[in-house]
Amino acid sequence: EYDVLVIGGGPAGAAASIYAARKGIRTGLLAERFGGQPLETLGIENLIGTPYIEGVQLGAQLENHVKQYDVDLMNTQRAINVEKKEQVEVTLENGAVLKTKALILATGAHWRDIGVPGEQEFKTKGVAYCPHCDGPLFAGKDVAVVGGGNSGIEAAIDLAGVVRHVTVLEFMDELKADKVLIEKVKSLQNVTILTSVATKEILGTDKVTGLDYEERESGEIKHLDLAGVFIQIGLVPNTEWLKDTAVELNARGEIVVDKNGQTNVDGIFAAGDVTDQTYKQIIISMGSGATAALSAFDYMIRN
Ligand code: FAD
Repeated sequence: EYDVLVIGGGPAGAAASIYAARKGIRTGLLAERFGGQPLETLGIENLIGTPYIEGVQLGAQLENHVKQYDVDLMNTQRAINVEKKEQVEVTLENGAVLKTKALILATGAHWRDIGVPGEQEFKTKGVAYCPHCDGPLFAGKDVAVVGGGNSGIEAAIDLAGVVRHVTVLEFMDELKADKVLIEKVKSLQNVTILTSVATKEILGTDKVTGLDYEERESGEIKHLDLAGVFIQIGLVPNTEWLKDTAVELNARGEIVVDKNGQTNVDGIFAAGDVTDQTYKQIIISMGSGATAALSAFDYMIRN
């Protein structure tokens, strides 16, 4: 039985568990894969105060930092249900039930893949998902953005200021982004928009060199020479397992939180990419993890 149980071992969960443990309360951390998304990241250059760190190293440092405190670390364990009774009860895939006074959900998110040859192979070798993170790596080069929704068009506008040229590839026959974004992107000299096209394959040697796409009406296959491909077809919160619980999710499946990280359920807090916070970044997730832990502590001393 815990005072605070954290589910998720990424930047948000690590921060939450350290902040909770530093209050001297019984803290547990449950993670399917400790380290989270940083484990899939090559270089991180925007964790302020740390000019450069590799994702795998950050994952290891998060684990080391957590282990300096009295945190009951349960790695490679998956939560499948949560219920608010007298306390909060979390069911694991292996059947165990953990009880806690306060719960912090920090299960993160994952980028939706397009599922074409080359995508997995060239991840972190030219296939990228985060323009804020990896845009500057392609300064002066040609890139493509796959996806013409809001995130794709925002990415194209952002990248256009950094790279030489951006090609946007949209599967449908029109862009799905907001009108103001579409007007903005169309005004940019170094952005080309292709609609009714299907990305077929990402090509490369040791890193990305280009992409093949199909013009859907004619069936013709065309090629683009590129240094990078940004996939922007959606960031999916890891909340599938919460759909039938009392925790409120928004239309995108993100956990709805207030500015203190409190969900709609008393005693249940959330932090990081899994929440409806606007920007999904490491430093922001760490901050919201700290906030959720301090809120959980506040909740405990009042109940
Ligand atoms: P995550 O890192 O997603 O961690 C979620 C944790 O929850 C994991 O431990 C996972 O195993 C666990 N989990 C999920 N479901 C369950 C369950 N049911 N039971 C138990 N555990 C569960 N951000 C930057 O600031 N700079 C960058 O340069 C940068 N580059 C990126 C590059 C890539 C390729 C990707 C994918 C992301 C990048 N990001 C970057 C974004 C950044 O990684 C995320 O914003 C951040 O990791 C979110 O932290 P989090 O703790 O909320 O979630």
